[in-house]
Amino acid sequence: MLGLSLLGGCSPLLFLLVLLLPLVSLHRLNHQERSEPSVTDRPKLLLVSFDGFRWDYIDRVPTPNFRSIMDEGVLVEYVENAYITKTFPNHYSLVTGLYAETHGIVANEMYDPALNMSFSMETDSIYDSRWWEEAVPLWVTVQKAGGRSGAAMWPGSDVKIHGLFPNQYLQYNASVSFETRVEWIIEWFSAPKEEAVDFGVLYWEEPDESGHNLGPQSSLMDVVIAGIDEKLGFLLNELKKAGLYEKVNLIVTSDHGMAQLSADNIIELDEYVSRDMYTWVDKSPVVGILPKEGKFDEVYNSLLDANPNMAVYKKDDIPEHFHYRHNIRIMPILLEAKEGWTIMQNRTGHFMLGNHGYDNTLRSMQPVFVARGPAFRQNYVKTSMRSVDLYPLMCHILSIRPLPNNGSLLNVQDLLSSLPDSPTPIPNHPPPTPPKASGYSYAPVVGSFLGVVMVLGFLVVYVILVTLKQRPSLKHRSWEMSQPLLQEDLHL
Ligand SMILES: [Zn+2]
Repeated sequence: MLGLSLLGGCSPLLFLLVLLLPLVSLHRLNHQERSEPSVTDRPKLLLVSFDGFRWDYIDRVPTPNFRSIMDEGVLVEYVENAYITKTFPNHYSLVTGLYAETHGIVANEMYDPALNMSFSMETDSIYDSRWWEEAVPLWVTVQKAGGRSGAAMWPGSDVKIHGLFPNQYLQYNASVSFETRVEWIIEWFSAPKEEAVDFGVLYWEEPDESGHNLGPQSSLMDVVIAGIDEKLGFLLNELKKAGLYEKVNLIVTSDHGMAQLSADNIIELDEYVSRDMYTWVDKSPVVGILPKEGKFDEVYNSLLDANPNMAVYKKDDIPEHFHYRHNIRIMPILLEAKEGWTIMQNRTGHFMLGNHGYDNTLRSMQPVFVARGPAFRQNYVKTSMRSVDLYPLMCHILSIRPLPNNGSLLNVQDLLSSLPDSPTPIPNHPPPTPPKASGYSYAPVVGSFLGVVMVLGFLVVYVILVTLKQRPSLKHRSWEMSQPLLQEDLHL
């Protein structure tokens, strides 16, 4: 009765307001949920990679700066990285959350039969976007979501990928010191509001280079590791000086570990198969073999069981858990040396005392992982994670919707100071494809349309009521259709 008495006099306007209020609030809520945090409030994240920093190096010599991050943050003891455990594939996995077969950077040296092109980290071929565009690195996603990114020499970060470079980046140049790279990173994070980066990546070539040359067991590596800890100390200090230390979430990790080699453990391919029958694309310890036309069977049969320290796989037989089959850039035959063994054509080739690339479940292949900052728990040790899980974790920290990936936030959310309140994707099931870069949504349009329809509907009903009141004869004609309303109306 109350509602209908409102309908009676001059209350239609009030009713209209009551009707529209939820719609207006709904629209406002919707807008609030989708709007980005203000520039100054946006979470900050810096991802640092010390190439070839094996997980156990931190225990080998005093590493007070790694320790301070662990005390104030988190340590993950066992990080299973991506196969093959090489630099380019793993750095791209860290920023895409994808295994190499999916992101397409399957090795440091590649051949793409469709493009008929070769990729080598020693040449400018790496600047061809086509190698990188099977995936989207996080800095591109950050920028498409309205954030800003800065990159200091991270592999691939000086390549235009899906039309974008990082907002700030350095052209790769190995002779630029770590300290200079840090200074650039600090400057980018400290820039005025609108220009400050939200996501930064920083790469340093050591201790990989020394690990290759000296071998990880060399006592000379102690000095190298202590030197890396000092470099980390420099970074922490610069963050403090710039007032960024408490604001920026810092993740320090690596692409892979390092195994000790021996000149006694060399497999010489020339002993088993003629060089004329194949091209070797990627090199030891995991070798991509491209047999010459019509020579597949001969090459495969010659190598199979040739040496007990070398596994030989047809592409389709590469073990499932490596996630290393489904890409045209993976060669038809893959040779994998046992840990500590080197595959060469003969002994005249370049021999190293340390190497990586082996099976990613080997402890020696695994990287360090420590992190601190407002998003992370304090003094927390986690047993294990996969390096592909880092991507959804970083997206969560940055409040960015992840693209489909092989990782899972569920696996690593215990590293966070507060648990995510949104539903977490089921492990190994990629989340749905995110909205287009513009963030355009149909919700407001549909909401507005429904609002208009409801208002019009109300007006039509109101007009009918008023008309019926004024013209009683109509009551009878439309009796059945309007019965409930009219019955009430008659009692007014
Ligand atoms: Zn290396």
